[in-house]
Parts: sequence; structure tokens; C-alpha cells
Amino acid sequence: MLLQGSVLRSSIRDFMPQRQSYTSVALEQAARPLLLLVQHLTGLDTAFLTRIDWRALTQQVVLVEGQLTVPLHEGAVVDWSDSMCRLLFDAKLQQSDVIPELFPDSDGAALGMQSFFAVPVLSGGKTIGTLCGASRERLVISEHLFSSLKLIADALAYQMALDQQMQLQQKKVKVAEKTIDKLYRQAQQMENLAHTDELTGLDNRRSFQSRFEQYQLQAVSRGSALALMMIDIDEFKQLNDQHGHETGDLALQHLGRALTAVARQSDIACRLGGDEFVLAAADTDAAGLTHLAIRLQQQFKQQMRESGLDSSLSIGIASTAESAVDQLLQRADQALYKAKELGRDRVELAG
Ligand code: GH3
Ligand code: MG
Repeated sequence: MLLQGSVLRSSIRDFMPQRQSYTSVALEQAARPLLLLVQHLTGLDTAFLTRIDWRALTQQVVLVEGQLTVPLHEGAVVDWSDSMCRLLFDAKLQQSDVIPELFPDSDGAALGMQSFFAVPVLSGGKTIGTLCGASRERLVISEHLFSSLKLIADALAYQMALDQQMQLQQKKVKVAEKTIDKLYRQAQQMENLAHTDELTGLDNRRSFQSRFEQYQLQAVSRGSALALMMIDIDEFKQLNDQHGHETGDLALQHLGRALTAVARQSDIACRLGGDEFVLAAADTDAAGLTHLAIRLQQQFKQQMRESGLDSSLSIGIASTAESAVDQLLQRADQALYKAKELGRDRVELAG
């Protein structure tokens, strides 16, 4: 049969942009013209390439060229036991032009194949696929032509093996990416845990210390104001004793939420430990923090009331107006002590 060069080239151009998910672009680009060549050489109206998975015992139609009469679909998978290639190879044949008579119950007969050939695609001595052709017409391929088909199958074998390698590599890359993703998330979780108080979600003492040091440095270098309040739940031991540890935890969570609600984005809100919390605010003076402290007391009381509990907060405030930057914590603590001494449920300023 004559090769119709111009038809071949224009057809190749037409199908090149199509991208199938079960082949690489490289395999598709190499195989499609060769399948077209097989079609032209043999006169069979359908030429196709399959991949065999010996582990799963399945065969997949990878690429089909010309499916005008034999309806084969790219991507279709059949069990190896139902494979037309297997039937042919088991019968020690490489082609047949009497498929319905020879294999009356076969898929090929059901698809209307009259003629069929299969050439193994070999890589490293292993059959990794087949190069096939089929037609509704009776057609016999000469031995001479078969040797050409084998050469084409050899050309396809290299590209298919490469394709398999590539898919394997891609799978490995995906697995590696997933693993890296998981490790990254774990590392992030650990990092968060290291800086977060689990019960309230606020910063923990360690995180506060490093962040507060930054705020102190900034306040000194810019000469800006910095204020701090120490917060402690009143008679918390009693709450625990009367209502149980879980209720105590709930009170701590209420305080965490109230503190988050009143704090600005730039404030550092932290649970130092036990029922002791702290809030540091840059560019804020004692009067500003006093307003905030009163709102905090109100919010906490209300949240506790909604949970059927009665509780209050004592708060001590210190600011750079009356205290040295490195004394703020200590001075706020002293003010808190004073609030406790003076009867609790109070806000006291460092003197
Ligand atoms: P004061 O008004 O003087 O602060 O009295 P207080 O009873 O609150 O005394 P203090 O602040 O010393 O009590 C702290 C209590 O907090 C003691 C401890 O049993 C309890 N506590 C510490 N951590 C937790 C926790 O994570 N959950 C609960 N439920 N209780 C805690
Ligand atoms: Mg307390």
C-alpha cells in the first residue's frame, strides 16, 4: 500500500494537541504517527497500542488510531483473561482473519472484528504491551509486512519503557511530596504547640517571654510607651473545689476568649500558667489599659454568669510612665497583689 504523505502529515497535526491522561506527551507524539503508519501499511482500519500490567493481569488500550468501524476506546482496560492478544498468543498465532469463527465468544468478535493481529512490544525481554490492528474486513498480513510491524513495535518499546519509568518516577515524586507535606504540617503543629497554651489557644509563657523582650527593645529604642496587665482569677481554687476541675478549665477558656476579644491585634495576650494571664500593649498607657481591664472583667463575669458561675478577676497594671521597662512584669505583679489584698475583683495600678 502506498503511503499518502500529505494525508499522514495533516492527520498527525490534527491529533497532536489532544492530550490523554494515561500516556505521556512523549509517548503520544512518538506512537501516533507510527500507528498511522501501521494503518497505512496493513490496510486495517484500526491500529492500536496496549500496555500490559502483569501484576494486575490487565491490559489497557493506550492509543488508538482510526476507530471508524471497530469501537475501541483509549484508556479502556480489560482483564488479561479476556484479552484478544492473549487468545491469539495462546493459539500460537500472530494474526487471524476469521475472528468470529475462531473466537466466537471473544470481545473482538463482539466489537465486530473480522481480522486482528498482535505483535508483542518487548522491553528487556519482557512483553510490556502489544501493537495491534483490527478490521471488519478480511485482511491477511504478509510475513514480509510482519517484519516491518516488529520493527515498529521495537521503536514503540523504547518509548513505552521510558513512559513507564516516567510514570513510576511521577508516582514516587507524588508520594515524596505527600510525605514532605505531612512532615511540614507536623512540624508546624509542633511549632504551634511549643508556643501555644493548649487549653486557651493563647501564647504560652515561653512565647510571651520572647515576644515581650522584642516589645521592650522597641519601647527603649523608640522611646514609646509600653503597658502591661497581670490578670488572676479570684478564688480559683475554690471554684475548682466546688465545681470540679473541668469547670475550672472552662473558666480558664472563658478568660482566654474574653482576653482575645478585648485585645488588639498588636497586643500580646498570654496564659503564664495556672489562672495567671498577662496582656502587654505597645503605645498604650496605664489609663488605656485600665479601660481595657474593666471591659475584660465585665466580659469574663458575663461569660461565667452565662455558664451559671460566679467569678471575678483581679488585675494589676504597670506602664512605662511610672516603671522601668525591665521592671514592668514585677510592678504589675505587685499591683495585682495589691488588688488581691484590697479585696479582689479590682484593678490596681503600680504606684
Ligand atoms: P486568689 O484569689 O488569691 O488568686 O486565690 P486562688 O484560689 O485563685 O489562688 P491561686 O491563684 O493561687 O490558685 C491557682 C489554682 O489554679 C491552683 C490550681 O489548682 C489551679 N489550676 C492551675 N492550673 C489549672 C488548670 O489548668 N486547670 C484547672 N482547672 N485548675 C488549675
Ligand atoms: Mg487566682
